[in-house]
Amino acid sequence: MPLLIQNGEVVTAEARFQADIYVENETITAIGNQLPAPAGTEVVDATGKLVFPGFIDPHVHIYLPFMATFAKDTHATASVAALIGGTTTFLEMCCPSRNEDALEGYELWKQKAAGNSACDYAFHMAVTRFDEKTAAQLRQIVADGTASFKIFLSYKNFFGVNDEEMFQTLQLAAELGVITTAHCENAELVSQLQQQLLAAGKTGPEWHEPSRPELVEAEGTSRFATFLEQTGATGYVVHLSCAPALRAAVEARLRGVRLSVESVVPHFFLDKTCAERAGVEGMKHVMSPPLRDKRNLPVLWNALQSGLIDTVGTDHCPFDTSQKLLGEGNFTQIPNGIPGLEERVNLMYTYGVRRGGLDLHRFVDALSTRAAKLFGLFPRKGTIAVGSDADLVIYDPHYRGRLSAATQHTNSDYNGFEGFAIEGRPAVVTVRGKVQVRDGVFVGEPNRGQLLRRQPQYGREHAY
Ligand SMILES: [Zn+2]
Repeated sequence: MPLLIQNGEVVTAEARFQADIYVENETITAIGNQLPAPAGTEVVDATGKLVFPGFIDPHVHIYLPFMATFAKDTHATASVAALIGGTTTFLEMCCPSRNEDALEGYELWKQKAAGNSACDYAFHMAVTRFDEKTAAQLRQIVADGTASFKIFLSYKNFFGVNDEEMFQTLQLAAELGVITTAHCENAELVSQLQQQLLAAGKTGPEWHEPSRPELVEAEGTSRFATFLEQTGATGYVVHLSCAPALRAAVEARLRGVRLSVESVVPHFFLDKTCAERAGVEGMKHVMSPPLRDKRNLPVLWNALQSGLIDTVGTDHCPFDTSQKLLGEGNFTQIPNGIPGLEERVNLMYTYGVRRGGLDLHRFVDALSTRAAKLFGLFPRKGTIAVGSDADLVIYDPHYRGRLSAATQHTNSDYNGFEGFAIEGRPAVVTVRGKVQVRDGVFVGEPNRGQLLRRQPQYGREHAY
């Protein structure tokens, strides 16, 4: 059925204007004033609402065996949570461990998602080991439309790669023209500091941050950038959390390294005192990189406004209270992660745009458009234009509410942002022209989501 969004205020990364949007066969076919509604058209009244392009979360974990357990969401629960929060596409980390076969892992992740997602999705392929067989498989995976890699410079002996493997992965990425995303920490320093702290009887979640301090992340960022520079590959730092790491990324850019930066929602709102709370409350706020000293928060917000931080993701990775307690008495065994997929857009709109003066277009860019461009989804996703997929978020800026585990859709028994007030939420969310959400309720097709296949787009040479 054709769809007409009437009288909304369209907001993209570049423009803001009053218009109707007409959708046929999953695609936007007209944008203009007083568009006619032929018989059989579904009409959505967007008077007083903002109409955004569907938001894109560039960094989530859904199916994830990790730290002796599994992240709690399924594609069914995560995709509904995403849509209710205004995210219409996510990029999931496909993370087979170092002991697993890359291609088998890729097929497993695809199979977990296929037919089970209510929103569109794509994968970043984690390279957790590099050898000849893996290289051949990675070529196949890229040819299948998964045109981005992920490497971990931490999580030694599980997901982590050593410098030799990083170099080889980036050489292959440069040859194939794919972008490589990286978790930047120094694995050896983390390992040594963890052992020292545990030996000194420092076992609670408050020691997680001191076991991977800011310099450890700055070193990882700087080393990743150096390897990008040497190989001519294009890179993307995931979940950058602190000023020293940002400085390392910016210095690399000033040398001409092609490097983009993502920060994730928890680091804009929470600080390390959350992990210092007693008992399991502290454990709920253990993630890597860890929550930092609060002096970093204004640095991240400034960097987001100015574009030094390109994108805002979540690193969504829900573990429930009983799983967090696996690390009772040993902080190195606390499953790392916090949910955020459902909360990202409303939190950034409320505290960024409404209360913090974040430019509305930068908000759309950082939460949608930039990720679409970096990861080969633009202009199909990430904007509102004739020919683009009709992924639309009709946003009610007058809604008032609070975040709570009691009302969330993510499969977790806690909410990392419990009690945060929000000012605005999606009123209607569409995925390729189909209304999937109305006023916080999922009303759509649970299996509407499709795997998005992407082309490599990064040559060895600068385009300018
Ligand atoms: Zn992650």
